[in-house]
Order: sequence, then structure tokens, then C-alpha cells
Amino acid sequence: MTLISLRILSSKAIKPAAPRLAALSQSARWYTVASNPTQFASIDEKTPLPQSFNQPLSVASQHAHGRLRYDWTKEEIEAIYHSPIMELLYHGANVHRLHFNPREVQQCTLLSIKTGGCSEDCKYCPQSSKHSTSVKAQKMLDTDEVLNAARAAKAAGSTRFCMGAAWRDLAGRKSNFKKIVGFVKEIRAMEMEVCCTLGMLNNDQAKMLKEAGLTAYNHNLDTSREYYPKIITTRTYDERLETISKVREAGISVCSGGIIGLGETDVDRVGMLHTLSTLPSHPESVPVNALLAVEGTPLEKQEPVKVWDMVRMIATARIVMPKTMIRLSAGRVRFSEPEQALCFMAGANSIFTGDKLLTTPNNEYNRDQQMFDTLGLVPKPSNLRQGSDNPDYVANAAASAAASEKKECCGSHSCSSHAHA
Ligand code: SF4
Repeated sequence: MTLISLRILSSKAIKPAAPRLAALSQSARWYTVASNPTQFASIDEKTPLPQSFNQPLSVASQHAHGRLRYDWTKEEIEAIYHSPIMELLYHGANVHRLHFNPREVQQCTLLSIKTGGCSEDCKYCPQSSKHSTSVKAQKMLDTDEVLNAARAAKAAGSTRFCMGAAWRDLAGRKSNFKKIVGFVKEIRAMEMEVCCTLGMLNNDQAKMLKEAGLTAYNHNLDTSREYYPKIITTRTYDERLETISKVREAGISVCSGGIIGLGETDVDRVGMLHTLSTLPSHPESVPVNALLAVEGTPLEKQEPVKVWDMVRMIATARIVMPKTMIRLSAGRVRFSEPEQALCFMAGANSIFTGDKLLTTPNNEYNRDQQMFDTLGLVPKPSNLRQGSDNPDYVANAAASAAASEKKECCGSHSCSSHAHA
């Protein structure tokens, strides 16, 4: 009996007939691997298993149970993150299957509704007014541009439409905010999930967005608390966490993740995942971005992120936040189809489609569709359509109905708190 043959046993067929097998099964989740039950019949229980069979193969295997935990320690996450990559990939894939149909990948569209001229100094961002890049400040888009983009996104298969504005916050932007609230209502009436990233929010703004039917608010942590001051000095880590908390308290789903490739260490990557996975509730959505270094930004010389780093981040995020949507976000354009397949296998279940992600290039739509065909992936339906037993569905459906009735129209556009997705 080889290790390989043990690992393809069927969950239905396995009965932990011997204590050593029971222990092995528990620690390594053999039960979750569907396959050929006949393999198990060939085990000769009188033959002692090699000693190594009684050892978990990796820390990832010990934590790949798929249960929600909010008390992860940094040490645990670090050990998962550093598991042998094939083990990590395998267990990320297993946990993914416990909560999601692994063939389903949500397609989201991100539109920059207010580009450039941002007062923040995020070192990776071409939209910061502190850096000399080719991105110039523009006014907020008008209503038709935004709503037509949302309609086109829906027609192309997107189920979530995200609007980003290059702002620190909404102070002094009353009229633009009113327009954005109108966009949210209109787009919800199209039966799409709606996300915004507009910088820092106060409680009243969060409440208004919730009442308009906003599904999610994106506010990325970007990196670890320790590394953060090397990337942004105009907004603190705690201010980010406060905005996330206001969003959650308003009853809006939180979308928060970060960017790798900023010059951070593995400890920083683990630190960010630790902060996210120990929030009072896990973000509904965690974008994992790979830096696309833009000329004119302080990080223009950063080396491209390797796919194995993305796989480590995605699989670790999947294991510690098993029910969260993990979004393979900026930087995907650099990865080949087989590399993206590894990311989906590790647990990513969402992508951004469209030619641009705010201001940086993204994968071509047709190539994405070909990739779906090749990999046997299918578009994930909107959570708004998941059924009346889903509280999100019920709340969102009510908001959508209210929006349809009111049919308020405004006229504009905006962009994000940003960081690509
Ligand atoms: S990432 Fe967002 S907040 Fe930072 S500079 Fe860019 S647009 Fe402004």
C-alpha cells in the first residue's frame, strides 16, 4: 500500500478500521477525497504501515478542517503558509470544496468612476497626486457612463459591479456621494451585486450606502500593520480598520485584502492574513492583488510576483477564512493560464473581468472566456440569486425591490480605497 493509493480513497468507503488509520484520517482529512473505493479493499490490515504514515504531512493538513475560526495565531498561520507548496495547494483545494462549488468562479467588473488626483500617498498607486505617472486627474464619470458600463458588465456575465473613486474620504463631496448612492440603487435594480471603494467612510455614509442596497464595501488593508507605514503615510492602519468596522456595523459586507510584491516579507503577508482572519467576522471577500509596478511610482522597480507566492497567499487565505470569496485580482494579467489554474485550485473563486482594473491593464475578456472553457470553469451566480433561505439574499432582494420602486436617477461616478481591487 502506498501513500498515493491511500490518498485517493473514498470518503464513503473508508471506515477507520484500525486506530492508526483513524488517527491518520482525522489529521489529514482523507475523508474529503472522493475517488476509487476499491483501493481501500486492497489494504492488508495486518501489514504495518510505515511509521511516516502516522505523521501529518504538513501543518496545512492539520488546519484544513473548513471550520470558521476567529482565534488564529500568527504562528499557526505562518506554519500553514510555509507548508510544502503541493501540500498547501492540495489542502486549499480541499477546503475550497467544503464550502463552494470549485467549478464556479464569480466574474466582477471594477470601474474607476473618479480617476487620479488622489491626496493619499500609497506608494504602489499611479493615481496618487504625490507621484508623477501618466494617470491624470479626471472628474467623476457621468450617470450614463456608469450605468452603461454596469449594463455592459452584466451582459458580459459579471454578477458584481464595483465602483472605485480615487479619494481619501468623502468629506466635502456631498453632491458626488448623492450621485453614487443613486448609482448603487440603479445597479441593484439590475440585479447585480454592487460594491464601492470610496476611501474612508463615516457611520452616516455607511448607513446611506446600506439603505441604497450596497452589497459590499472594499477597503483594503494592503499589507501588515508593521509594513504599512513604509507604503502609506497619509492614512493609518487603525483608520482603515475603523472604516471596515463602520461598514460591518452598517450591515454591509466587507471586502478587504491586500497586495503582495510591495517589498514586504513573508511575515508581513502572514500578518495581514492574521489581521483579516481575526476580525469579528471574516470579510465576505478578500482580494489578493499582485503588484503591477507602474512607472513613476516609488515601487516602479519592484520585481513581478511569482505565481507560487500567489498560490501560498490564496491557499492560506482559503484555509483560515474558508467561507470567504477569495478574489484573484490585480496582477492576474501577468499570469499564464496554467498559473491562473493553480490559483483557482488553491481556492480563488473570483476574478475581475474587463480590460482595466481601475487604471492598470487586465486580462482580455475573450481570453478569459477561453480559459473558463479550457479549465471547465463556469460563472458563479450572484449571491442575490442563491435563494430565499439566504439572509443576504433576503436583505438584498428587499433593497433591490425598494430601489426599483423609487427609480431615482442621479448622474455620476467615482472610484476607490483602492489598491486595484
Ligand atoms: S490606492 Fe486609493 S487611496 Fe491610495 S493613492 Fe491610490 S486612489 Fe488614493
